[in-house]
Amino acid sequence: MNRSDVVIVGGGIMGCASAFFLRRRGLSVTLIERGLTGQQASGTNFGNVRRQGRYLHQLPLANRAREIWGRLPELIGEDCEFVASGHLRVCYTPDQAARLEAYARDASAYGLDLEMISANALRHRFPYIGREAIAGCFAPVDGHANPRLTAPAFGRAAVRAGARLEEGTEVLGIERDGEDFRVATRERGEFRAPVVLVTAGAWGNRLSSTFGEPVPLSVHGPQMAVTEPLPYRIEPTFGVSTPHVHETVYFRQVKRGNIVYGGSTRGPASNETNRAAVLPENILGQFAQMRRVIPALARVAIIRTWSGVESYLPDDVPVMGPSATTPGLFYAFGFCGAGFQIGPGVGDVMAELIATGATTTPIEPYSIARFAAPAESPTP
Ligand SMILES: Cc1cc2nc3c(=O)[nH]c(=O)nc-3n(C[C@H](O)[C@H](O)[C@H](O)COP(=O)(O)OP(=O)(O)OC[C@H]3O[C@@H](n4cnc5c(N)ncnc54)[C@H](O)[C@@H]3O)c2cc1C
Repeated sequence: MNRSDVVIVGGGIMGCASAFFLRRRGLSVTLIERGLTGQQASGTNFGNVRRQGRYLHQLPLANRAREIWGRLPELIGEDCEFVASGHLRVCYTPDQAARLEAYARDASAYGLDLEMISANALRHRFPYIGREAIAGCFAPVDGHANPRLTAPAFGRAAVRAGARLEEGTEVLGIERDGEDFRVATRERGEFRAPVVLVTAGAWGNRLSSTFGEPVPLSVHGPQMAVTEPLPYRIEPTFGVSTPHVHETVYFRQVKRGNIVYGGSTRGPASNETNRAAVLPENILGQFAQMRRVIPALARVAIIRTWSGVESYLPDDVPVMGPSATTPGLFYAFGFCGAGFQIGPGVGDVMAELIATGATTTPIEPYSIARFAAPAESPTP
């Protein structure tokens, strides 16, 4: 029988976490994924579990997610290599230091404690930091995790909790049919449910468009690389705070010793071919910027590069919440960067919303209704 309380379309971190939290609320769930869970953005990302620097309105959701990251072993039986290593943003100019300080002041009202660190203190605590960094802002309990592990771990936990997972199954279309939706797939026929949740990442717009809710979604490919392993020294995740895109770089060292890094301008990506290109000049530019932060990395070898298909909306925030046209239809897609950190919180919030009709975490800024065409005014 292909009927459940909820059908979820898309098995990235949003879909897998939603399936898990919906099962914890007792709803029957079918999760449908075209490829394998975590195969797209959720498995190719940098792995930053960072709240520092987010829009202030997103901090309640990020805080809810951070609480879940800390309880992964108890909730899903795996830690996904999450470490609360701290997240340090350094800067090169007094103007930028003032911006970091203002953000730290504003973020404290949302329960995010950040510590400004002067140039001297910075080099005392992190002796490998280069002379160009004049200040830093430290988030002590942000950190990083392994994206290859996380969405599949939530998917497996959802299955253990009773969810049905259909991988290798592409949703071709969704239609209302009385009380139910009919969800047509290429490989496994039709599934039915009174509630559908679209968590189809950079492909979500195709499905929302069929319900009269297109969104101006574009796709790009952030540029990633990893170095050979070095002795483990760099505990926090690093970022550079700068208004100049070519100076942006973020990096983290994993316990095995490799340094994963990204930043700078994004490369081309396509949600038709499902590919994202690596631009060698970006990878090398980021490397030069990483070396500015930690000069001792000058001679380390890069061993692999990659990118992933990431979705963006013009206001840089996702679509999350109920459809504005169709009762029973919900969306959580179009996460414009930084979606990995909030993923577990998104799953928890969407499960709460679907099960109870409301959520205690504000998600109003993410309503799909913000893209609705303005109603035509009557001709005088
Ligand atoms: C290179 C890169 C670096 C990033 N770095 C970070 C970072 O450090 N920190 C951070 O917080 N965020 C980061 N992000 C962003 C983050 O990865 C994404 O916001 C997040 O993973 C989005 O998750 P998702 O589940 O919405 O999308 P996805 O992971 O893309 O999952 C969507 C799934 O839907 C499936 N699907 C689509 N259409 C259909 C269909 N018709 N039928 C069935 N299945 C379908 C796809 O196959 C896919 O598996 C990065 C992203 C990229 C690409």
